[in-house]
Amino acid sequence: MKQLINLVAILITTSVAIAQNNPVPSKGLAAIDKTGKFEVREFNRHPVGDNDILIETMYASICHSDIHHVHSDWRSDEPYPYVPGHEIAGKVIQVGKNVTKFKVGDYAGVGCFVNSCGKCDYCKADMEQYCTGGRVLTYASKDIYHNDEITQGGYSNNIVVIDRFAIKIPKNAPMEKVAPLLCAGITSYSPLKFSKVKAGDNVAIAGFGGLGHMGVKYAKSFGANVTVFDITEDKRADALRMGATKYVNVNNPEELKGMDDSFDFILSTIPAKYDMTMYMRMTKFGGDFAIVGMPALINQPTVTAGNFVFTPNRNVYGSQVGGIKETQEMLDYSVKKNIYPDVEIINATPEAVEDAYQKVLDGKVKFRYVIDMKTLK
Ligand code: NDP
Ligand code: ZN
Repeated sequence: MKQLINLVAILITTSVAIAQNNPVPSKGLAAIDKTGKFEVREFNRHPVGDNDILIETMYASICHSDIHHVHSDWRSDEPYPYVPGHEIAGKVIQVGKNVTKFKVGDYAGVGCFVNSCGKCDYCKADMEQYCTGGRVLTYASKDIYHNDEITQGGYSNNIVVIDRFAIKIPKNAPMEKVAPLLCAGITSYSPLKFSKVKAGDNVAIAGFGGLGHMGVKYAKSFGANVTVFDITEDKRADALRMGATKYVNVNNPEELKGMDDSFDFILSTIPAKYDMTMYMRMTKFGGDFAIVGMPALINQPTVTAGNFVFTPNRNVYGSQVGGIKETQEMLDYSVKKNIYPDVEIINATPEAVEDAYQKVLDGKVKFRYVIDMKTLK
C-alpha cells in the first residue's frame, strides 16, 4: 500500500513538473497604475534553470515599500502593470539539476532581491544588497541575467529563483508569520547587529509599524531598554506588551521633553515627512542613528550641514535590508527565539489588497498584512 502511495506521489510530481526549458505559467495580483488599483493577471516566468528552484507561494506580505512603489512615490517610471511583493514564503515544488540547497517539499523564502553579480566587493562580503555589478530586485526591476525581463514579485502563485537567493525555512515555522521576516525582519535586525546593540543599551525605535515592531522585538531580545516613538495613541499598549519600557507619542510635545542625548542607538523606520534632526539630537555623543524608512520624494526630511555640525560625533547612516547570509542568520535566530511579527491574514483579491494598502496608510494595521496566496482565483 505504501509503495502504491509513493508511486502515485511520484506520478503527480512528474505531471506538475514544468519542463526544464519551458516558461513557468504564473498568476498574480498586478498593480495597474499609480492609483493603487490591482487586477489578477496571468504571465510567464523564465524557465527553471539548473541552479533555480520553483516555489509555490503560500504567503506574501505587504511592506510599506510596496505601497511607495505602487504609488510611484520614489520614481516616475514604474513599469506597470507588475506584481509587487518581496516578503515571500512558500514550498519548493521543483529544483534545477545543480541544486543541492533545497529539495522538493522544503520550505523557502524570498526577500527583496533575486540576483547579483557575485563578483564585486559587496557580493564577496555577503552584502549582495549593495551589489555594484548588477543587483536584481524581486519586482519591477530589469533582470539583466534574463534578457532584461521585468521581475514579478510575490503576490503570485509561484516564483522562480536561484537557490542561493532563497532562504531556508524550517518545517516547524509558522509560514504566515515567516513571510514578513524576509524584509521587515531583516531590515530591522541588520542595523541592530551592525551597531552592535547589546544588553543595557538605550534603544529608540521611531515608527512603530511593520519594521518598527520587529525592531522592538529584536532589540528587546538583545537585552536593550527600548523606547518607541509613533504618532498615535492606538499603539501604546502594544508597544508595552512587546517589551518596550516607554512609548512616546510624538504629537504630544510634553512627552518629548528632556530626551536629548538619551540613546545609544536609534532606528528610524518612518515612511513620512518628519523632523530627523530631533532624533539626531536624541542620539548620544558617539551613538548611532540608523535610517531605514524611506519617505516619498515629496516628503523627504530636511537636514542641514549645521544640523550635523551642532549635533557632533553621532554616527548617522542608512541601511538596506541585509545580505543573504545575514537574512538566513536572522531567520534562524527568529525561529530559535520564537520572534515573529503580529500579522493579519487577508485574501488574495484585488479588493482586499487595495483595502489593506489604504489601512496601512491610515495607520490601521497591527502590524503586517499577510496575503494568503492559496485564495488567489
Ligand atoms: P508601516 O506603515 O508599517 O510603519 C510605519 C510606521 O511609522 C507607522 O506605525 C506610522 O504610524 C509611523 N509613523 C508615520 N509618521 C511618523 C512620524 N512622523 N513619527 C513617528 N512615527 C511615524 O511601514 P513599514 O514598517 O512597512 O516601512 C517603513 C518604511 O521603511 C517605509 O518607508 C519603507 O519603504 C521603508 N523600508 C525600507 C527598507 C530598507 O531596506 N531600508 C526595507 C523595507 C521598508 P501610524 O501607522 O501609527 O500612523
Ligand atoms: Zn519591504
